[in-house]
Amino acid sequence: MKKRWIQKSVSLILCLLLSLSAFALSAAAAEPNVKTVAYIDENGEPQTAQATVITPDQTTYGAAGETNWYVIEGEAESSNTIMTFDAVSNFILADNAAWTITNTASFNIIGTAGSLNFFAQKNGSGSLTLSNRLFTDSGNVAIYGGTITTPAVQANMNSGTVFVYGGVIRTESFYSKDLLVAGGEVHTQTTNCKGTVTVSGGTVEALQPNNGYMALISEGDLVISGGEVTSSGAFGLRSNTGSVTITGGTVVAEGTSMGISGRAGISISGGTVTATGTNTMGLISGGPITITGGTVNATGRTFGVYPNAEGAVVTLGADRPGSSYTFSSFLPGAVVSVKQGQTLTDGEADYSGELTDEQVAALAGKTLVCKHAWSWVTDSEAGCGEAGVKHEVCASCGATQNKNTVIPATGAHITNIVNAKEATATEDGYTGDEVCTVCGQTIKTGETIPATGEPTPDEPANEESRPAKGDFFSKLFAWLIELFRMFTRWVQK
Ligand SMILES: [Zn+2]
Ligand SMILES: [Zn+2]
Repeated sequence: MKKRWIQKSVSLILCLLLSLSAFALSAAAAEPNVKTVAYIDENGEPQTAQATVITPDQTTYGAAGETNWYVIEGEAESSNTIMTFDAVSNFILADNAAWTITNTASFNIIGTAGSLNFFAQKNGSGSLTLSNRLFTDSGNVAIYGGTITTPAVQANMNSGTVFVYGGVIRTESFYSKDLLVAGGEVHTQTTNCKGTVTVSGGTVEALQPNNGYMALISEGDLVISGGEVTSSGAFGLRSNTGSVTITGGTVVAEGTSMGISGRAGISISGGTVTATGTNTMGLISGGPITITGGTVNATGRTFGVYPNAEGAVVTLGADRPGSSYTFSSFLPGAVVSVKQGQTLTDGEADYSGELTDEQVAALAGKTLVCKHAWSWVTDSEAGCGEAGVKHEVCASCGATQNKNTVIPATGAHITNIVNAKEATATEDGYTGDEVCTVCGQTIKTGETIPATGEPTPDEPANEESRPAKGDFFSKLFAWLIELFRMFTRWVQK
């Protein structure tokens, strides 16, 4: 009994030792190198993270549902695709890192189940060069820093967004539902987005090498509110089913066919926009074309502005100061109107309301600006003896002129004395304030008049309310005189 127990124990311990050593060996081989790594966060602030060092010979990282940090550092050439299983994988491109991944796989970095974020360090000098795509199937891709070169940045076409907040992206295309560029530099040939393409900052250069295809293109809306956008291709900017909206930034869109094309409409209310159709049209839309602000230059070999459907009317206005528009020509018969209450001028002729065909034809090549409707606005009212300030503002575009124009003072103050009060025996009086009856300003404040100390006839003396010694003795004296008079009267009787 005892012997068997010992044998069992020994074999159990041996088994345990063997499995432990096997585990230790495998653990040592796969032991991740985790260390504290500095990076610059989404707000540009320095931070640190506990990051796993990515190595050229390891392919898989992370676990489902986790958020993990990784660092790509040093120089390396790898043939292994990096595959993560996290919900969120944060990569830090260390300063001076220069990694090249070359293989025949479709993707060189894959987020299999979540988002991929790329951060840089202080100098932003880390780089990652991929022979194939950077891709996540069920999350977003966000780039905050570093330089990434890849044939395509791709997220799920039905749900994923690619965000560029900083860094440099050199690619041929984006494949995602939405694309948002808010900073950094994007160099691409085209964009293939099922949803919306938005540029609010940074630099976007979308250049089709052979002008054979569309440069900056979205299936849905294309919105530019800032940054610098340069695009050229068969179409410079194109929304296949939505609208092109530009509210700011600088946009240069050149198409061998068309400059800017918005299927459902084009709206420009700010920024500087140059749309050139070297063979055909500058601006073309099947929906309303509304231009109410910014500097717009639309030139086409055939037409500058081409509303290509019934109801695709053109509305021009000047809602911003400094707005100016030049169109090489309009499609003959196009319905062109100037916004109600506003007038545009080419310096010679004025344009308002719905324009006649002759007026539309006459606009060709002219530069239109707001015909200002000036009115004065008072900054500070003039008063008596005090000048005011005013300036002129245009009711249409909000331009201003004649700033700090002096409004002369209305004249001298006309004063009156108020709050004057005579002193009584017991209460102080007041000389009164000198107040302007026009502006209400107090020119001079009055002075207190001390109480007289003499009781007024209708104010009988009262011992208790007169503690002053002089008052007491003068009263006593008056009383003695009265007593003396009474006594003499009594004696005379
Ligand atoms: Zn104006
Ligand atoms: Zn006054």
